[in-house]
Amino acid sequence: MGIAANLEQVRKQVNDLVLQNQRKSGAVSLLAVSKTKPLDDIIVAYEAGQRLFGENYVQEVVDKHRSLSHLKDIEWHFIGPIQSNKSRLVAQHVDWVHTVDREKIAVRLSEQRPTEFSPLNVCIQVNISGELTKSGISLADLPALADFVANLPHLELRGLMAIPAPQESFQEQMKVYEPLLSAYNELQTRFSNIDTLSIGMSGDMAAAVGSGSTMVRIGTAIFGSR
Ligand SMILES: *Cc1c(COP(=O)(O)O)cnc(C)c1O
Repeated sequence: MGIAANLEQVRKQVNDLVLQNQRKSGAVSLLAVSKTKPLDDIIVAYEAGQRLFGENYVQEVVDKHRSLSHLKDIEWHFIGPIQSNKSRLVAQHVDWVHTVDREKIAVRLSEQRPTEFSPLNVCIQVNISGELTKSGISLADLPALADFVANLPHLELRGLMAIPAPQESFQEQMKVYEPLLSAYNELQTRFSNIDTLSIGMSGDMAAAVGSGSTMVRIGTAIFGSR
């Protein structure tokens, strides 16, 4: 199947899950993860109506953003780890960063965000399944980092992101997300503009939408394997 047909199928899956979970229509947006895929693939998806694209590698998103700068309504989301020596390029070339997990990176992104741009939208990445991944802050440390990020002038704190370790069953996938959803609800009571829970990949989309996801990040099912 081609990219446009894949996209349609993924959109239908998301919409069906939204209905099944009695969520509001449009409650879950689709981030098309285009890392390692050529520009032509992004253009095909764009022509099929896709506007949100996710990238993991700094130089790649910079190149793609430059090449497609005429497509002004693309929203570029950075979903990979950020090293501090690359933060300036990220601050200059994307609309969203999902992977803020420490003060140092947050400060740099805020300082390096060009002042003529709107604030950089950020999610804090939370590590919800222990030591399997190095990225992400613990839930215990989240409130302090959220306060810190919310006070930076050129960042807009929008929510949380997580990449859980693979689980054996749907029930376990749901269980892993429970504390994250609580933390997200708590965050909404403390700050305005918290509207993004970035969870759900190809393997756990149903559990994520059932757990309050507002943005699923799907690559392979749209663009094919990498
Ligand atoms: C690659 C990636 C995805 C998409 O994964 P697929 O298995 O290709 O759907 C989602 N989120 C993050 C953070 C990724 O790095």
